[in-house]
Parts: sequence; C-alpha cells; structure tokens
Amino acid sequence: MEFSSYILHWYHNEHRDFPWRATKNVYKIWLSEIILQQTRTSQGLSYYTKFTDIFPTLKDLAITKEEKVLKLWQGLGYYSRARNLHTTAKHIHYNLEGVFPNNYEELLKLKGVGPYTAAAISSICFNEKRAAIDGNVYRILARVFDIHTAINSTKGIKIFQKLANSLICETNPGDYNQGLMDLGATICTPKKPDCNNCPLNSICIARSKKIITKLPIKIKATKVKERYLNYFCIEHKGQFLMNKREGDDIWKNLYDFPLKELHVPNNNNSTHDKKITKDIIGGNSFSIKKSVKYKHKLSHQKLNITIHHIITNQAPRENNYIKISQKQALELPVPKPIEKFFQELFNPIPLDNER
Ligand code: SF4
Repeated sequence: MEFSSYILHWYHNEHRDFPWRATKNVYKIWLSEIILQQTRTSQGLSYYTKFTDIFPTLKDLAITKEEKVLKLWQGLGYYSRARNLHTTAKHIHYNLEGVFPNNYEELLKLKGVGPYTAAAISSICFNEKRAAIDGNVYRILARVFDIHTAINSTKGIKIFQKLANSLICETNPGDYNQGLMDLGATICTPKKPDCNNCPLNSICIARSKKIITKLPIKIKATKVKERYLNYFCIEHKGQFLMNKREGDDIWKNLYDFPLKELHVPNNNNSTHDKKITKDIIGGNSFSIKKSVKYKHKLSHQKLNITIHHIITNQAPRENNYIKISQKQALELPVPKPIEKFFQELFNPIPLDNER
C-alpha cells in the first residue's frame, strides 16, 4: 500500500469531528487555520465557535473594529495573528470585492498566511495538491523514513518538503493533509507515541530500529529573553490610567498600565516605586494598596511582571494615558496578566468570556 493510502484509510475511519471539518467554506477554513496556528485544538475550538457566531461571514469580520477582534482573541496569545486576521478580512472585503483567493499562490499573498496555511486551505477547499507541513508532519516523516537532518535547518526544510511533495495524495489532498495532522496530534505524539494503533507501524523505520524518541532532530531554539515589567495601576475615583501599546514590541494595540521596564528583578524597592509613581501622577498624594507579581511565558520571552495598585485622591496627570472605567477595563483587549489582575481586583464580577 502507498503511504498516502494508509493515511487516507485511517483518516476516514478515525478522524476527529470538528465544526471546520463539516465545511469547505474558505472563510471558515481560513479562520480555523489561523486560530489553530500554535494552538491546541481543544483550546482553539471555543475561539472558532465564538468567531463564527459573532462574525458568520468575512464581511462581518471586515467591518468590525480591531479592538473587538483583539478582545475576542484575548487569552489565545500571539496577537499578531488577530491583527493579521482583521487586516486580511478588510483587504479581501474592500480590495478584492469580498472574493477569497482560490489558489495557493494567491493565498500566500495574504497577511498572516504562510506556506503551511496556504497549503492547508488550498488542499481542503480547492483540492490543490499541496503538502501542508507542520510540526506533526515533520515528526511523522522523520520517524517513518528515519531522517536525522534537523527539521528546522535549511537543509532539513528542503529534504522534508521534497519528501512531503512526493508522498501527497493525488485524489484527495485535503483529507490526506488533515489525516497526517490528526495522526501526529493523536497517535504519533512527541512523547509516548501509540505505535500499536498507528496505521504506519508496518513501514515505520524508527519503530523497527527502536529509536522513536530520538526523532525528529531539532536545532536548539534561540535563547529566551527575560524581562522585568514594572506596572503602575493608578486608580482615582474608580477610574484607571491606561495606555494603548504601539511599536513593534509584544502586545501591540492591546491596553496596559503605565510601565517602567527594569533591567533587573523588582525587589520591592518601595522608594524607587514611589518615585516613579510621583512622576506619573504629578506629585499628588497616593498610597500603594498592594503589589502583585505574575510570571508569563511567551515563545521567546519570560516576563516577570509586577503590578502596583495605587490609589490617589487627586486627579492624576493624564499625559499619554487615558482614563478607563471599570466597565471599559473589562471590555478593552488587554494582555493575559492584566486580565488576571482585573479579575482579582473586580472579583466576583466575571469577565464577559467566562459567563
Ligand atoms: S509507528 Fe510509532 S513512531 Fe512510527 S509513525 Fe507510527 S506512531 Fe509514529
């Protein structure tokens, strides 16, 4: 039997049911693919449901405000995906007369759509013979064909791409691609793969050589940068000073508090924190009600966050900040640690998406 026949046969009998599997609507497939980038299916499912309920068509998404998209995305991380999603929806609606591109090359021109996503969409929606290669696929191919070249090296990428292109199913590339992804997610997992129930176990070289856990090979990722974010949540008569993040740093277009980034850990230097507070609020009297610490991991950054909750009885200087009420604070898109902070502060009022 051919490699692709094993995959197709297994997929048709064992595939997991997800709402995006019941449609060929390119808008919905695109939405699911963007949401599922770097996200577990179990987590992505509720976001897919939310997005398709609130934005059932591309036009609904295109004509909404970016802030609403970011708010719905809150908690999923990698916010550039949400910004690109909205930019692309607007581009298709306003510049392409609402018509979604219908082939790999044109899909690749869309913001936020890389080779993997373009291959997945074009094969599922338009039956185009394109191999979609993600981490799951690299792992399966490395193990079945006993490939020891690093999957994230230039040479490795070429080798795997060539192999994947040679294996793809001619007749049903969409189901084949989804089958490989499912197999990697449920059977050929990074640790403890379920080889006994794998449709490829009779041809898997790594299994016969008993070297499964050695594959795939990966060059170590770049060093994780450690950052110390010292936030000042200034509250005056139930209103908070906040700021819309700009530039190329993390959390672009999300809202946060006045921030002083440190180069070293915050060791509760209250003199220093009080001085910064004075600078922000303009010399008014204040009290630091409490300071809360959070740790938050991003792909290449480890964030050590301190949020000082400061109460002042006189109106603070606003400078570049805006005043936000409690209701607005819950509606605005904010980074996860600030969402947590608000949750604890406003407890027991739950956040919208948890009702
Ligand atoms: S036999 Fe085991 S290692 Fe080989 S592809 Fe299947 S699950 Fe992966």
